[in-house]
Amino acid sequence: MPCATLQPMTLRDRIASRVDSLQDRLVALTQDLIRIPTLNPPGDAYVPCAELIGAHMQRLGFTIEYVRGHGTPGDSDQHPRMNVVARREGARPGPCVHFNGHIDVVAVGEGWTFDPFGGQVHDGKVYGRGACDMKGGLAAAMIAVEALIAECPDFAGALEISGTVDEESGGYGGVAYLASKGYFSKPRVDHVIIPEPLNVDRVCLGHRGVWWAKIETKGRIAHGSMPFLGDSAIRHMSALLERFEHDLFPKLAQKRTEMPVVPPGARASTMNINSIHGGLGEDFSGFPSAVVADSCRLVIDRRYLLEETLEEVRGEVIGILGDLAEKRPGFRYEIEDMWDVPPTMTPVDAPVVQTVSDEIYRLFDRAAEHVISPGTYDQKHVWRIGHLRDCIAYGPGVLDLAHQPDEWIGIDDMVASAKIMALSAARLTGNL
Ligand SMILES: [Zn+2]
Repeated sequence: MPCATLQPMTLRDRIASRVDSLQDRLVALTQDLIRIPTLNPPGDAYVPCAELIGAHMQRLGFTIEYVRGHGTPGDSDQHPRMNVVARREGARPGPCVHFNGHIDVVAVGEGWTFDPFGGQVHDGKVYGRGACDMKGGLAAAMIAVEALIAECPDFAGALEISGTVDEESGGYGGVAYLASKGYFSKPRVDHVIIPEPLNVDRVCLGHRGVWWAKIETKGRIAHGSMPFLGDSAIRHMSALLERFEHDLFPKLAQKRTEMPVVPPGARASTMNINSIHGGLGEDFSGFPSAVVADSCRLVIDRRYLLEETLEEVRGEVIGILGDLAEKRPGFRYEIEDMWDVPPTMTPVDAPVVQTVSDEIYRLFDRAAEHVISPGTYDQKHVWRIGHLRDCIAYGPGVLDLAHQPDEWIGIDDMVASAKIMALSAARLTGNL
């Protein structure tokens, strides 16, 4: 008999109070995860972190698989790209809800007053690198699943938790690899929740698109005392930058989107000049020699909107390059695509959006905010490779704290989000 038909209201209350009773475990689990320094790059300590998650889930009756992203960027015997996937089948068939969290964290950086890998608790917060992005969210999902199973042991459907690597560097050894093996596709999985730190009362539907390209301008080397005998690649590049300033950037700022991107400044097209290098390198001691630069290289990071296509986005830059080649004497260039990801937005009426939003409303008595991330995250692979559309990011933590010194996660937020995740999973699997 389905658990919910016994006493539907009580099951809801029991799951929520079970999460409350697991608060100490939730904090301890978050601390344990933070204390494993899974720095990326280079991809340190992925194996013990995956094993910690695997051991915890195994105690809850899950079947554990360790899946190494063989041959993916950075994978080596010294730094194996080790993922963990835990699955528990219910007593009866039904939909599967999958919680996915990345286990890698970014470099510590300067300015910490807490031990970045200490997991110290202070004033209702757990501190450490990865606390909010996103070991706290992963721990909350693990506790959510534990509470659901404790109160509904003969649940229908299936539950999955994965801890995956390399999200901070594109997710190729993690979610992309797993998706290519069918781990993020139907019929195995129906609904995916990624507990990234988007704030406890917001549902993130997706992200803007991205296109990276490398542009090289070419010149001709000559003695620096007679630059007129050469042709400066740096001056050609500055002509391109000037066109970006006068033509492209104002045009991008005009392109507004219906996507609810946060922060609102990102509710337009943007382009960052990621890096520029020209002439002699800086890796010498002594005095530079006098030469005209024969090469200058630029990397651009263009973020685009659902209202744009990649062809348009590329066309804007290539159009300017072509125009310069026509009008500016000696202007020669090469452009190389580095990578691109289309924009992603799960429809508001998708089951996972509706269910999580409703649980947010019930707990906080206010409507969930639907947002779009300015940058991409692992949802891109779930869409692109897994072809699964019912996917969101929802989790505790303040987005602005990600990658900062003294990163923290609020314990109350973790508990609240664990309740919302547990109740949403109970509903999406048909148990509530
Ligand atoms: Zn993250």
